[in-house]
Amino acid sequence: NEIIGTNQTIGIFNSVMHDELLHHQQIELYMEKGLAEGEFQIHLQAKYDLATREICGAEALIRWQSPELGFLMPNHFINLFERNGFVLKLDYFVLEEVCKILSERLKNKLPVVPISVNQSGLHISERGYLSSMQTIADRYKLPRKLVELELTETSFIDFTTKKENESALQITRRLKSMGFSLSMDDFCTGYSSIAMLRNLPMDIMKIDRSMLLSAENSERSLTILKQVIQMGRSLNMRVLVEGIETDAQERLLKAAGCHVGQGYLFAHPVPMEQFFAQLDKNAKK
Ligand code: C2E
Ligand code: MG
Ligand code: MG
Ligand code: MG
Repeated sequence: NEIIGTNQTIGIFNSVMHDELLHHQQIELYMEKGLAEGEFQIHLQAKYDLATREICGAEALIRWQSPELGFLMPNHFINLFERNGFVLKLDYFVLEEVCKILSERLKNKLPVVPISVNQSGLHISERGYLSSMQTIADRYKLPRKLVELELTETSFIDFTTKKENESALQITRRLKSMGFSLSMDDFCTGYSSIAMLRNLPMDIMKIDRSMLLSAENSERSLTILKQVIQMGRSLNMRVLVEGIETDAQERLLKAAGCHVGQGYLFAHPVPMEQFFAQLDKNAKK
């Protein structure tokens, strides 16, 4: 009986793996075409100033509307794109689209807010990253800090072992001098979040949702969350917590001194046009 059970388990496991492999092959078959034909869409999720409850920014999050594969969320393809390198192209696409819409709106005297884009850790060791970023910065010449780069601490950890590249510190300084602001995404999920802050000139601390969830369940975690927020403030960073879903969480974070909130309580990610329509509507009030 046990042997049959084990065989069945292995059988299921193998077919799942097989499906996944097929799926990955399909994704790789269509990704270049998808990018060329505009199938990747940028959604924007509003960020809220917790003091005024007004929109103070947004994060760009990619979605893929593929005629062959259906509607795909990043968890279906980002890991694969990290492995095959396609994420580099995708990130440049997102950055360019964001710069394009911001400069168009500025030209037409429409309201804008800073928009953040996610940067894969692969960029830190990408040859030509800084020159590509400089080219984009020069092309759009947007006011300082209107475009924010979200980096995760893991990108910096991988980096330290690769000696032939410029140091992470130099890269972040150069990005700042180009006018981008820098945000440490998924803060508190890795092993060296605090050590990273010693040297990296980050402007925004983005505390991961997992910290918020554990703070609701344990006094110790709550104490840590509060102290992390205070530390961010003391280092003159803007402090944001992601994944806020309830009023109680909002109250807790406001009391703890968090500046900015992002989460389903305030807004879901929506197509770019829809986000700006809301922004225009708010401006008329
Ligand atoms: P992230 O950068 O940490 O983004 C936050 C994720 O949390 C987003 O998922 C967002 O939709 C989700 N979220 C927002 N509010 C809430 C909430 O209240 N509750 C919960 N449970 N979740 C919430 P999404 O859009 O599926 O993106 C997942 C991840 O994929 C992102 O995590 C980011 O790491 C990556 N990603 C998305 N777009 C890009 C991109 O253009 N380039 C790169 N390199 N990565 C991207
Ligand atoms: Mg992010
Ligand atoms: Mg995050
Ligand atoms: Mg996250």
